[in-house]
This record gives sequence, structure tokens and C-alpha cells, in this order.
Amino acid sequence: MSAYAAPLKDMRFALNELAGLSQVAQLPGYEEATPDTVDAILEEAARFAAEVLDPLNRTGDQEGSKLADGKVRTPQGFREAYRKFAEGGWNALPFEPRWGGQGLPKLVATPVDEMWTSANMSFSLCPLLTQGAVHALSLRGSEALQKTYIAKMVAGEWAGTMNLTEPQAGSDLALVKTRAVREKAHYRISGQKIFITYGEHDLTEQIVHLVLARTPEAPEGVKGISLFVVPKYLVKPDGSLGERNGARCVSLEHKLGIHASPTAVMIYDNAVGYLVGQENQGLETMFIMMNAARFGVGLEGVAIAERAFQRALAFSKERLQGRDLVAGGKTVPIIRHPDVRRMLMLMKSQTEAMRALAYVVAAALDFSQKDDSKERQKQHQSFVDLMIPVVKGWCTETGIEVASLGVQVHGGMGFVEETGAAQYLRDARITTIYEGTTGIQAMDLVGRKIAREGGATAKAWLASVRQLEAELQSPALQGLRRQLANGTQAVSDCVDFIVAEKNPMSAFAGAVPFLKLMGIVAGGWQMARAALAAEKNLSKDDSFYRAKIATARFYGDHVLVQAPGLRDTVVQGGAGVMALTEEQFLAT
Ligand SMILES: Cc1cc2nc3c(=O)[nH]c(=O)nc-3n(C[C@H](O)[C@H](O)[C@H](O)COP(=O)(O)OP(=O)(O)OC[C@H]3O[C@@H](n4cnc5c(N)ncnc54)[C@H](O)[C@@H]3O)c2cc1C
Repeated sequence: MSAYAAPLKDMRFALNELAGLSQVAQLPGYEEATPDTVDAILEEAARFAAEVLDPLNRTGDQEGSKLADGKVRTPQGFREAYRKFAEGGWNALPFEPRWGGQGLPKLVATPVDEMWTSANMSFSLCPLLTQGAVHALSLRGSEALQKTYIAKMVAGEWAGTMNLTEPQAGSDLALVKTRAVREKAHYRISGQKIFITYGEHDLTEQIVHLVLARTPEAPEGVKGISLFVVPKYLVKPDGSLGERNGARCVSLEHKLGIHASPTAVMIYDNAVGYLVGQENQGLETMFIMMNAARFGVGLEGVAIAERAFQRALAFSKERLQGRDLVAGGKTVPIIRHPDVRRMLMLMKSQTEAMRALAYVVAAALDFSQKDDSKERQKQHQSFVDLMIPVVKGWCTETGIEVASLGVQVHGGMGFVEETGAAQYLRDARITTIYEGTTGIQAMDLVGRKIAREGGATAKAWLASVRQLEAELQSPALQGLRRQLANGTQAVSDCVDFIVAEKNPMSAFAGAVPFLKLMGIVAGGWQMARAALAAEKNLSKDDSFYRAKIATARFYGDHVLVQAPGLRDTVVQGGAGVMALTEEQFLAT
């Protein structure tokens, strides 16, 4: 089995040449992100991911997290790895210095998070959820809540969770039933939450649950949901842990993948909870958290694709089958066969395109908060809002595709567990489901991000892609230029269709194909930018930059070319989606 090695060259390329790290480092508060510091962070993180987290990935999958007597034991080695993780300051990387964080830009935290997930996705979920909880508390929590909880969570001493889902309330959070009854300065929370990632575990002494619930007089639907902090242990005034609160894990789910990550059924029984923000505005706060988490899950798609690619690549160089088509002779490694090359190129090119897009969106997140012009902040925020469902939906769907290709490259050895290729596919499978399914992301993209604003942000983005097309002047990039132009036109046609369409059934019928189209074209936009940057830098590292140009061209010929077909599906395919009656689906 091959070990994980962070793709540092491609990460640096995406950071510096595509996402504009040097500009991000000029934003107020990010002066620490000098090239030397960032390099040192990436090198150290790469070492930690490879040496500490990667070796626990397979054993963690085999052993899984276990519940006994109300306590959850994570797989062997996880506690020690988490201790090192927190002591190394990794948990604190993206947080503000006033909470003990390192105050680094999202753009720098992004490749680091990618490494944790590539090396061990189950492990990475604990810090990911803690990040989301800290984010919500730092934006909407009272001063007292912030003082009590944030610094410990930033230090990694306490972990956070996100409790939205209930048996009857999945995608539709209007159906949340958990109750919150006011009692003096706090509330009493009662209800059941399911599928709670790291809802109970042994990595930290305290778990800080963020829970959606309803007060008795709250209006129906999403307008009556409030957000509460419900700690596993009550916190005494001096900050030490007091009595056990009424929040407990009653079972863990048996699931397809991420076996080491405990997915808990939680019962809240008259538990003490503290309101975050205002009553009935919980969903808005949760959305803040969900946007960060959706980006994080999109990045999981990139990370798992990278890992699956590395494993398939290593296998393809070792496995001997068949002969060279032209030279004949002895048996050759399968990487010499065109179809295996095609699969490896699909894996590599899409992974690099996804990485580039995710890093560019991370940079836009930084600019949306720190740019010195309010007007530009707004523009960056609109771009982020448009692209979050694309990063979440497209990168995770493609991550599964790439992990599945990884199994295919292995042949039968991919289907058995021994090589590890199957684990990546199993682990990747959840990414298109949690934090909002692909269907829900696509409806967000079509409804909120395009139709509601008449397609304004999408059109502004398309205009910038068109400008780039004009820069693709060299003969080597003419195919890519044409494919990008066709892709841009395809998105533009769909945006016009969505804005003009009055029947939501028809617009939403093509929402997922549209999300895929957006992802493919946004990826093509980044690969075209990558090819241009590579042409300029050829003399610095001929092998890396030539590979980048060839990979971008491959992406154009094999991926971007799908764009016009997807456009036809979006614009013409709606009627077919709803054509059958429910009875006509199965003719027995
Ligand atoms: C391993 C794991 C970890 C999880 N971690 C957490 C966690 O930490 N915290 C938490 O709160 N939740 C968590 N979840 C829950 C997860 O977020 C939900 O499973 C997810 O939101 C989907 O909800 P659901 O399962 O009820 O599916 P449903 O909402 O029942 O959806 C079923 C299908 O119907 C589609 N659908 C539903 N509504 C619509 C609609 N209006 N229009 C079009 N299509 C629709 C969906 O896209 C999907 O294909 C986790 C789930 C799993 C499996």
C-alpha cells in the first residue's frame, strides 16, 4: 500500500499562481502569511498528515468507533493522534489570535485541511465540526458564551458538534421538533437528534453541542428555530467542568464508510442550553456555520480524490498485465496502457481543477472579510455565495467519481479491501449527502444564487471567464480556448433559461445537471488560468509546468467538452423528468 504524500507542488502552485496568496497576505491581520511561513506550515502539516494520521486510516476503518456503557471509544491511536494534533497547534490555525488562534487566512488553512482529510477523513471531521461551532459562536454568541467556550475549543481541549437532523427533519429543517423551554438565564432542551458526527467520543474532555430547537411560542417552520449551546458537562464559573448535562449518546450508526468517525443518536433530556443569538433566528446562525462546513465538505471531495489518485497511480506502476501495444515484448505495468492512462488523467486533471477552484473560493472568502473596500468585499461575498454550492456539490460528486475510477484502475484488487482503494470510495460516498445533499445544493444554486438576483453574479463571473478566453493565445491552447468558450456559452444559456423560467418544477428538474455544468466550467476556467501561468513559468520547472499544460488540455478534451450536452439537458430535459405518473415507474 502506498503512503500519502501531500501534493505540495500543486498546492503551492494553486495558492500562489491561481488564488493570489501574496495579495491575501497583504490584507490587514494576515501579514504573518509570508511565503516562508506558509511553506513551513505546509511542510509540517504534510509530515503530520503522512506520519501520524495516514497510518491510522485503515486501522481506524477496520476497528471503527464503539459505544459501550454510554461512552464512545475511538479506534486505537486516535486519542494520541488528537493529543499531538492539538498540542501542535493545528486546531488553532484558522482562528483569531484573540481566542488563541494563529489568525491565518482561510486560504492557508485550506491546503492544510485538505491534507488532514486526504490522510484520514474520519479523523478530520472532529476539527472540521469544531471549526464550524467556533465560527457560529464567534459571530453570534454572547460575550459570556464566547468567553466560556471559544478559547478551549480553539486550543482543541473541547470539541464542537452540529445538531440539526432529527428522524423526521433531514433536508427539511422546518420540521425540527426538539423543544427549548426558558428557565431563568438558560433553557431546558429536550428531544432526539440523529446522525450527529462526533456526538460522543473520547478525544476531548468536553463536547460543545450546537443544537437547533424550538421554544413553545415559536412560529411554525424555519422562522421558529433557535440555536443553543448544550455542553456535555456544565461549566463552573471558574471555567472548570461541573455536573454531567442531560445530553447523551444512545447509539452509533453502522454505516458504509467513515467507520472511525462516530455518528451518534443523541437524546437531550431536560438538558441545560444557552441561546446563541436571538430566539427564532437559529437557522440564520446555523447557515453561517453551514456555509463554512459546506466549503469544508467540498474540500473533502478534493482530498479524497487526491488520495484515491495517489493509490491508483502507485498500483498502476506495479501491476504487470498485457504487452505494449506497439513494441510488444514483455508484460508491462498497466500504466503503459492507454485506457489506464485515460483513467489516471481523468483522476489527476479533475482533482487539480477542483483544488484550484476551492483555493480560489477560499481566497475570495478572505477578501470578502478583509478587503479595504466595502464594495469589493460585497463582490467577493457574492462570488463566494455563488460558488459554495458548486464547491460542495461538484467537488463531492467528482470526488466519488474519482474514487470509483481508483477502484477501476485496481481491477479486482480494488473491489477487495486489501489495497485500501475501496475505503476511499466508501468514505467519499457520504460527502454528497451530509451538509445538504447535491439536490439541495443545486436548488440553492438555481433558486437563491441565480434566479433570485436575475443571474447578476453569475453573469459578472461569466464576463471575467470570457476575458480570460482572449488571453489563451498560444497554438497549444486553442482547443482549450474553444472548449472554454463553448462551456461559458452553455452556462450563459442556462442562466438565461433559469432567470426566464416561471415554472419552478422545470427549473429545478435540471438543477443538478446545471450544478455539474457550473463545476465543470469553473474547473475549466481554473485549468485555463493554470495553463497560462504554466506557460509563463516554463523555464522554472519544465517538467511540472509542461505536465500542467498537458493536464489542462486533457481536461478540455475529456471534461469541459461535456458542457454543451449538459446545457441541453438543463434547457430541454425538464419535461422528461416529470413525464411519468408515479404509477408508471414500475410496470410489473
Ligand atoms: C455519516 C453522517 C453524518 C452526519 N452528520 C451530521 C451532523 O453532524 N449533524 C447533523 O445535524 N446531521 C448530520 N447528518 C445528517 C445529514 O446532514 C442528512 O442525512 C442530510 O441532510 C440529508 O437528510 P436526510 O438523510 O433526512 O435525507 P432526506 O432529506 O430524506 O433526503 C432524501 C432524498 O430526497 C432529496 N430531497 C429531500 N428534500 C428535497 C427537496 N425539497 N427537493 C429535492 N430533493 C429533495 C434529497 O436530495 C435526497 O436525495 C449526517 C448524516 C450521515 C449519514
